[in-house]
Amino acid sequence: MISLAGKAALVTGGSRGIGAATVKLFAQAGADVVFNYHRNREAAAQVEQEARKHGTRIESFKADLGKMPEAKKLVEFAHERLGRLDILVANAGIWNDKDEPIESLSEREWDDMMRINLKSVYAVVHHAAPRMIAQRSGRIVAVSSTSGQRGEAFHAHYSASKGAIISFVKSLSAELARHNILVNCVAPGWVDTDMSKTTLETKAGRKSVLGTIPLGRVGKSDEIAGPILFAASDLATFVTGEVINVNGGAVLCG
Ligand code: NAD
Repeated sequence: MISLAGKAALVTGGSRGIGAATVKLFAQAGADVVFNYHRNREAAAQVEQEARKHGTRIESFKADLGKMPEAKKLVEFAHERLGRLDILVANAGIWNDKDEPIESLSEREWDDMMRINLKSVYAVVHHAAPRMIAQRSGRIVAVSSTSGQRGEAFHAHYSASKGAIISFVKSLSAELARHNILVNCVAPGWVDTDMSKTTLETKAGRKSVLGTIPLGRVGKSDEIAGPILFAASDLATFVTGEVINVNGGAVLCG
């Protein structure tokens, strides 16, 4: 097991899916963790309970990260409760299972996607970075997607938001290197979570998804949390500005 003993981590979107798996794995690795939930307090309480079994400090905080003031409050809460901030995982995001041809993709849908998927990452990093700079160390891991690299027909707004996360991360990796802050992306392919559920539930949807994945199956949240842990750990001290693809080989045949 990779150790994060004594580290303080903030994970966004930790109440379910990839974020919840990350919170639990970080706790198992010895980290104290604060995570946000958007609406579902019960789900957050459940994650807290499971993660606390490992004996570290785990706390959740309600925040809509599409709103700058709430992102600020979340980072302040994490820093105040944990006393420092070593790791930020910017994971929260949305994807709409409905196909959106560009002709009908509305300005509102575009703006909402950019606000929740991209501006939220800027928002938490903007407030977390000064604390990491003061500590002269930090790890930032943003969750992008295969979609942000190869595009995704009828989901151009999602793809654009995830592609922008990659260039944001690459910019910050160069900018923050002098402060000993390493910044990377983990880019999942299809993962079995609430986000992908409706697509994977239909026979046609599942067939078309599996056809793009050489390993012949979708990923599990734990299989994304592992590479996130790696990027946040002492095993990755010379890795920055990278996109760690975790997709069962999907990009290779995309
Ligand atoms: P999920 O829907 O299960 O979880 C998304 C999380 O983001 C939830 O905890 C939710 O509360 C949080 N969130 C959503 N809107 C928010 C807001 N406005 N403010 C605060 N939190 C908000 O999905 P997931 O699959 O676990 O997704 C996690 C990340 O992985 C996302 O960034 C997603 O784009 C990315 N991803 C997922 C897949 C996949 O197939 N599931 C593939 C590639 C990338």
